[in-house]
Amino acid sequence: MIEFCSLASGSNGNCYYIGNETDAVLIDGGISNRRFMDRAETVGVDTAKIRALFVSHEHYDHVAGLKSISHRHNIPVYFSAATYNALSRRKRPQDYKIFDGMESVQVAPSIEVFPFRKHHDATDPHSFVVRVNGHHIGVITDIGVADEVCAEFFSRCDVVFLEMNYDPEMLSSGSYPQYLKERINSDIGHLSNSQALELVNNHASPSLTHIIASHISAENNSHQIIEDMLLPYKERYVIELAPRFAAGMRYVIEG
Ligand SMILES: [Zn+2]
Ligand SMILES: [Zn+2]
Repeated sequence: MIEFCSLASGSNGNCYYIGNETDAVLIDGGISNRRFMDRAETVGVDTAKIRALFVSHEHYDHVAGLKSISHRHNIPVYFSAATYNALSRRKRPQDYKIFDGMESVQVAPSIEVFPFRKHHDATDPHSFVVRVNGHHIGVITDIGVADEVCAEFFSRCDVVFLEMNYDPEMLSSGSYPQYLKERINSDIGHLSNSQALELVNNHASPSLTHIIASHISAENNSHQIIEDMLLPYKERYVIELAPRFAAGMRYVIEG
């Protein structure tokens, strides 16, 4: 059995749970431990199974709660060396490990985490594909532009938490200051809805089954636009829009 769910997704915090019968990993710790526990309980995931927490980059929405989550649940936190150094001292967890972006990390007998470097305005940003019981689950968010490496990792995924951050028209006509609009839209910002779908159209594995639209902007996107864009994909895939302030669906796949 494998299970996965989003516990938080977007600029107010990010945390994704991926596991099997006996073990699990978290990707990012951007919510407080209290919220993390509440949502884990609501959705029915067992926090005692978590063996590691992987940090994608040092932005607040990915690290805000990791020290307390790590401490309270005795979970080692994995960083790239540069990301760890970029984190202020008081946010650093005691129990940490450094991953090398070129190598996978075996965190449990049937769970292996594959990091890859991505384009985003952080010190040393990575995304991850987690292999659990032979299934590949990607967490691919906070990416300005999807390069060949990103496309290659995406193409391995059977399940993907895929950033659909913004609608370009809503962004350009919205209330954000110009510098922020340019940052989001740039090659080191975020993936737009259509950039995300380009990945699906051009690089999806025949075995891709679940697309969970993630890191959706509250200001610069709308669920209706995303629903409309994803409608043609619903025949083929299980589709979900990850909520910002609650856990998403907990999916369980037998086998
Ligand atoms: Zn970021
Ligand atoms: Zn983010």
